[in-house]
Amino acid sequence: MSILPYPDRLTAFARRIARTLLPGSCLLCGADSPDDLLCNDCSADLPALPLARCPLCADQTTHGERCGACLKDPPHFDQAIAAFAYDFPLDRIVHALKYGHQLAVADWCARQLVTRLDTGELDCIVPLPLHPERLCARGFNQSGEIAKVLASASGLPVRQDSLLRTRATATQAELLHKERHRNVGGAFECRTDFSGKRLLLVDDVMTTAATANECARVLKLHGARAVTVAVVARALKH
Ligand SMILES: [Zn+2]
Ligand SMILES: [Zn+2]
Repeated sequence: MSILPYPDRLTAFARRIARTLLPGSCLLCGADSPDDLLCNDCSADLPALPLARCPLCADQTTHGERCGACLKDPPHFDQAIAAFAYDFPLDRIVHALKYGHQLAVADWCARQLVTRLDTGELDCIVPLPLHPERLCARGFNQSGEIAKVLASASGLPVRQDSLLRTRATATQAELLHKERHRNVGGAFECRTDFSGKRLLLVDDVMTTAATANECARVLKLHGARAVTVAVVARALKH
């Protein structure tokens, strides 16, 4: 049962706010788009994920088999679901999410994800947290904003404060593969008992799986039965 009494009404409310913030033109090309963040042409051109991808981390593989990284060192999460490949113009959409238009873009991101999820298989949504210093500088957590809309659209509860980033880490993109695991090790803490729960860990982009993997490890240490990672965009190695 949902902890939110009127998910449909809340979604309608979120979309109404989103529309009032939208200038009525496509975020990417400026063409008229009164009802949505992107016009139909730009929506149709978004970079799709390859059909053949790793069932665990969603990276591209030749025939849809597990990728080398997941075979060698299976991740703590059970699967990763991504709406798009992280390529132009998804980088612009994510930039807009982080640095402006956040409500309208978070609403759009959540709608891309909700159609790809089997919410009947999930108990709770957990956004990937920012370190308090970064949260303070930005004023909001973009993953938390997506998780909020996802919660109202799906009827699932969201736990914004369960998972904490207790150590500031370097940006993963700046590091070599080996350093990425070390960089996020011990950076997260969980203060909720998730015994038996099937969790949805939400983030905007998955660059490497290292951050989501460390979060999933901590969530499972706190009882989570399953962790599905949902990201708007997945960076592909190839
Ligand atoms: Zn457009
Ligand atoms: Zn993989």
